Amino acid sequence: YCGLIALVGRPNVGKSTLLNALLGQKVSITSRKPQTTRHRILGILTEDNRQAVLVDTPGLHAEEKRAINRLMNRAASSSIAEVELIVFLVEGTHWTDDDELVLNKIKKSGRPVVLAINKIDNVQDKEQLLPHLQVLGAKHDFQDIIPISASKGDNVDKIKKACLQSL
Ligand code: GDP
Ligand code: MG
Repeated sequence: YCGLIALVGRPNVGKSTLLNALLGQKVSITSRKPQTTRHRILGILTEDNRQAVLVDTPGLHAEEKRAINRLMNRAASSSIAEVELIVFLVEGTHWTDDDELVLNKIKKSGRPVVLAINKIDNVQDKEQLLPHLQVLGAKHDFQDIIPISASKGDNVDKIKKACLQSL
């Protein structure tokens, strides 16, 4: 069986880094600079008899004045509508207006969502994580909430498991 899974989140949260970590390959360019990913990037995750096609979406933007941002939003929105599972990435203990915008789009899709809280290696005070998890958990009925570090590989296996189990 093969299903489609979208990695969704505002620019720079680490979607491409997570895709590379999941695949163990540098298929998607990562960068400190936002908007490095301008198209949908696909990767295939295989285990036993299950296969997931991963879509690394361009970041969604609240700002739609520039044509490139409009294009990127459209590509990201159409990715969401078709998928089996959404992996929604947010960053550390920050929550921004862009995250809220992305969450609203996700809610409209009605698809199941795993929340991946990325860059936890940047969170100095780990005690901040738990209250933050509760705040995020109240925002939506997430299928799962998984703190990760895409660049260090922490808990990437849990994301992989959640992806393959959703198929
Ligand atoms: P995207 O725009 O969502 O695709 O984000 P990228 O994957 O391109 O990553 C944006 C920046 O965040 C890059 O500089 C990455 O190296 C960095 N980054 C990604 N994941 C992590 C992480 O888990 N920890 C830290 N400290 N940095 C990360
Ligand atoms: Mg990217």
